[in-house]
Amino acid sequence: MIKRSRGAADKMSKGVQFLMKKNKIDVLLGNGKLKAKGQVEVTDKDGKTAVHEAKHIILATGARSRELPNLKIDGKTVIGYREAMNLPSQPKSMIVVGSGAIGVEFAYFYATMGTKVTIVEFMPRIVPVEDEDISKELEKIYKKKGIDVMTNASVEAVEATKTGVKAKVKTATGEISLEADVVLSAVGIAANIENIGLETLGVKTDKGKVLVDKYYATNVAGVYAIGDIVPGQALAHVASREAIVCVEAIAYNEKKYNHKPAVVDYNNVPGCTYSTPEIASVGYTEKAAKEAGYEVKVGKFPIPLPVRQ
Ligand SMILES: Cc1cc2nc3c(=O)[nH]c(=O)nc-3n(C[C@H](O)[C@H](O)[C@H](O)COP(=O)(O)OP(=O)(O)OC[C@H]3O[C@@H](n4cnc5c(N)ncnc54)[C@H](O)[C@@H]3O)c2cc1C
Repeated sequence: MIKRSRGAADKMSKGVQFLMKKNKIDVLLGNGKLKAKGQVEVTDKDGKTAVHEAKHIILATGARSRELPNLKIDGKTVIGYREAMNLPSQPKSMIVVGSGAIGVEFAYFYATMGTKVTIVEFMPRIVPVEDEDISKELEKIYKKKGIDVMTNASVEAVEATKTGVKAKVKTATGEISLEADVVLSAVGIAANIENIGLETLGVKTDKGKVLVDKYYATNVAGVYAIGDIVPGQALAHVASREAIVCVEAIAYNEKKYNHKPAVVDYNNVPGCTYSTPEIASVGYTEKAAKEAGYEVKVGKFPIPLPVRQ
């Protein structure tokens, strides 16, 4: 299954490469770093460097798995998203730390394959950014499926054992010890803002993200940033939209385009979680809408459980 999924991803990547060629976009493979105003230094895999010049530079270096200080990712017993998509063999047991979209997606996938999965979530409910009803329903379904769900719980320490890993978990009722073949750290992302020359040009950051205006311009003229390295939801369609707004605004400012782009409304972004059942949401949750001062009417529709459980 993993081989097939990687094959599909490769195919899509080749499709994008084809589109680059078709649209006459040069792709340089290497590590890019801001060198000076209007200059990017690219180091290729052989260590050779070359400086490229451009009037406008858009940073889009994305993100990686966030690491907790007491849960360092070693790629073997404590893994991140990248390894979870590519495990060479199926673990018999897995502790998933964090129950955001990615955590519950991997938990569902591995549990369906027969892995004994335990979710450890720091917050009082799983998928904490969704409506409370959704969290309750998903927890019920996951438990029925045999997934252990621990909320109000945190992994304090992990130690390697002969067969895998032992985790010390703090719960509301005391500390317990869990053993598993592998721990998946799914506690969010960290933006790739290091070693890309932000300091060289004085590009401002805050809380690990690059600061931008609503057209994705940084505080340094000619340098822009989009996607997971800027504040806002870390989602692929958000990154794409930000890129379009950014490029159209550049063209507008250069008087090459007469339409000022509509800015992204971050309160109106759809999100999907590919568990079973799937979760879809858009806009405010009920609680957030109330907190924002809206009068809220609630409609509820029971949805039959999918046959594929
Ligand atoms: C497991 C997982 C599941 C996800 N599922 C979904 C989903 O279902 N739906 C959804 O909308 N989003 C999903 N996301 C989020 C989505 O992948 C990101 O929001 C999106 O890819 C962000 O796009 P980006 O262009 O900012 O960064 P990326 O797509 O991460 O691209 C950044 C690129 O920059 C390269 N790079 C980094 N530093 C340098 C450098 N110095 N020089 C040159 N290149 C560099 C990286 O190698 C990478 O190729 C998921 C993420 C993960 C990890």
